[in-house]
Amino acid sequence: MAESDLALYRQLPAIDKLLQLDEVQILVEQSGAHWVTACLRKMQEQARASIAQAGKLPAWQEDWVKELAQRHQALGQSALKNVFNLTGTVLHTNLGRAVMSTTAVNAVSQVMSSPVTLEYSLDGAMRGHRDRAIADLLCELTGAEDACIVNNNAAAVLLLLATVANGQQVIVSRGELVEIGGAFRVPDVMAQAGCQLVEVGTTNRTHLRDYENAINDQTALLMKVHTSNYSIEGFTAEVEGEELAELGRKYQLPTAIDLGSGSMIDMTAYGLPAEPMPQSYLSQGIDLVSISGDKLLGGPQAGIILGKKKWIDAIQKHPLKRALRVDKMVLAALEATLKLYLTPEKLTTELPTLRWLTRDPETIRDSAESIVVALQAFYGDKFIVEVEPCLSQIGSGSLPVDRLPSFAVTFTPLNGKGSTLEQLATQWRQLPQPVIGRMKDGKLWLDLRCLDDEHALLQVLLS
Ligand SMILES: *Cc1c(COP(=O)(O)O)cnc(C)c1O
Repeated sequence: MAESDLALYRQLPAIDKLLQLDEVQILVEQSGAHWVTACLRKMQEQARASIAQAGKLPAWQEDWVKELAQRHQALGQSALKNVFNLTGTVLHTNLGRAVMSTTAVNAVSQVMSSPVTLEYSLDGAMRGHRDRAIADLLCELTGAEDACIVNNNAAAVLLLLATVANGQQVIVSRGELVEIGGAFRVPDVMAQAGCQLVEVGTTNRTHLRDYENAINDQTALLMKVHTSNYSIEGFTAEVEGEELAELGRKYQLPTAIDLGSGSMIDMTAYGLPAEPMPQSYLSQGIDLVSISGDKLLGGPQAGIILGKKKWIDAIQKHPLKRALRVDKMVLAALEATLKLYLTPEKLTTELPTLRWLTRDPETIRDSAESIVVALQAFYGDKFIVEVEPCLSQIGSGSLPVDRLPSFAVTFTPLNGKGSTLEQLATQWRQLPQPVIGRMKDGKLWLDLRCLDDEHALLQVLLS
C-alpha cells in the first residue's frame, strides 16, 4: 500500500467517536442506533473503496455529520414522490395512471384505518365473495348479470381465458393480436392461460366467415381484443361485436372482448373521441367483457370482468382468482369511483381524469398566461419562455390517434444547445416535487392540461 493511501485511511473518523457527537445523537433518537451505525459503516466502506480505487477521499470527507444528516433525510422520503405531470399525457402509466377523486381517496383512508366487512355479512347471510357489493354496482351501471374484480386487466384476461378455454382453442383476429406496453401480449397471455391461439383473417381484414371456418370441436371461445394503442387505417374490415355474439349463439360457444380502456360513459357527449363501452357489447350479447380500472374509468388499478352469471360464477371459483384478487383499499377506491358514475353530470368536476380530459383549451391558455411572466423573469437569461399551442394525449393506450388541443409554457435555450435543455429537465426532476415535462423540437414543453394549482407549480419552479 502506498504511503499516501495510508495517510488517507488514517483520516477516516472512528464510528464510536462520531456516535458521541450531539448532532449524531439527535439522529439516533429519531431513527435508532442501529440505522445510524449501519449508515456510518456504509459511509466508511465507501470512503475506503474510494481510497482503494481512486486514491482519494470522497467529496463528503469534509463533513461526515452533514452527509449523514442528508442520508437520514432521504430515508424519510417516499420512493413514490408526488410529481407535476405536465407531460401532456393524462393517463401516464409510468406516473401511476388515473389520479383518484377526493371521494375515492377518503374511502381508501377509511378502510385502511379500521377493520371492515370485506367478507363478512352483518345480517348473517353468507353472500359469497369479496367482490359482491361492488359487482352489484357494476351490474347496475352496465347491465351485466355479474362481475369479477382482479388486480388489473391483464389478470382479468388471464383469468377469463384460464377459466373458459384452458386446454382448448381460442379464435382471435390477426389484426387484434396486440401488445400493450409492459409485456402484455395477447399470444403470450393465451399461452400462460393454457389456451391454444387460433389466428384468423389478415392484419387488415378479418371477416365473420374467417371465425366460422376455424370453429371445430376443440374451440372453446371466440374472442376480440380492442386495438387500443394503434389503429389500422385504409382497406380494413373487422368483425363487429353483434356478429360475433350471433356466431357464438349459433355454435353454442362463449364470446369475449378485451376492451382495455373501455369507458362507461359516452365520451362523445363530453366532446371527446368515441371509445367503446362495455355495456354496448353486453347488450349485443357478448358473454364477457374485460376493462381496466385505472384507464378511462379513472379509478384504482384493477381489472373488471363483466358478463353472464354462468361464466362469472366459474371465474370466481377458479383457483387463480385467489391469487389475483384485490384488497379492501382497491375495492373501496373502485366503489367510490363507480358511485360517481351514478350521477354522470358530476364526473367532469369530481373525477380528475375526466376533468382534465374535458378541460377547454382556452382555460388552459389562461392558466399558462397567468404564470408565463414570472417564469420569463426567472428563466429569461437562458431561455425563451412563451405560451404555445400543443396537443395532449389521453394515454394508457386509449384512443391513440386522437389528440386534444391544449397549451404549454415552452422553454427554448437561447444558446440553441440541447445540453442546456437536458440540464433544465434534470434540475426539475430533482425538485422536492419534481416537474415532468416533455422534450420535443428542441424545447421543453410544460403542457398545463393536468395542472390544478398554478401557485404550487410556481413555488417549486421559482426556487
Ligand atoms: C391496457 C390494456 C390491457 C392491460 O390492462 P392493465 O390494466 O394495464 O393490466 C390489456 N388489454 C388491452 C386491450 C388494454 O388496452
